[in-house]
Amino acid sequence: YIPVIAIDGPSASGKGTVAQRVAAKLGFHYLDSGALYRLVALVAMRSGGDLGGDEKRLSEVARELDVVFKGTEIRLGNEDVADAIRSEACGNAASKIAAYPAVRAALLARQRAFRQLPGLVTDGRDMGSVVFPEAALKIFLTATAEARAERRYKQLMAKGIDANIATLLQDIQERDARDSNRSVAPLQLGADTNLLDTTSLNIAQAVDSVLQQYAE
Ligand code: C5P
Repeated sequence: YIPVIAIDGPSASGKGTVAQRVAAKLGFHYLDSGALYRLVALVAMRSGGDLGGDEKRLSEVARELDVVFKGTEIRLGNEDVADAIRSEACGNAASKIAAYPAVRAALLARQRAFRQLPGLVTDGRDMGSVVFPEAALKIFLTATAEARAERRYKQLMAKGIDANIATLLQDIQERDARDSNRSVAPLQLGADTNLLDTTSLNIAQAVDSVLQQYAE
């Protein structure tokens, strides 16, 4: 038996940081499923053309991704693209291509392969609903859009990247709408999923909450 902790939630909710820390605490593997959608978007953006509308070609890109996750590195071929895929442009493109059923299907086996002993902590939009429906613990980690925009703003400023809160808030709201309203694997709070609202929690408190829920 290989336990899975599935942490789903909207963009900029902090689920990636929380999932990574929970994985480290438990000695479990970690899968950032959003990175896979971002990688497909990166390849599409770099190929120029209008790959954006070609579901079949995008699903082939997804199936053929030559990616290795190594610590904090994400190696696409010989290149570390860990930083490149984090851009807002890549996130927005990822959320558009993630609406294609064929792209999602192409990434399914790749995601499930991360389930290895002693266990897996994973974050995304459909980890509990589609990819790991048998997960031992399912969390919906969220915060108000305003709180998420502010966190993203602070993160960017800390990296010396100029940002505008109003624009970030608008991007987050558009992405929320797209991820929640699509016909396949929409982001939703499932009946078997625990809501964790981090609007007034810090990262350590959110991590503790997940660990406590897992221990129960
Ligand atoms: O979580 P992250 O912001 O990296 O994800 C980028 C985009 O990939 C999301 O906006 C979402 O549309 C898509 N995604 C998804 N299913 C997942 C993870 C990410 O559709 N499991």
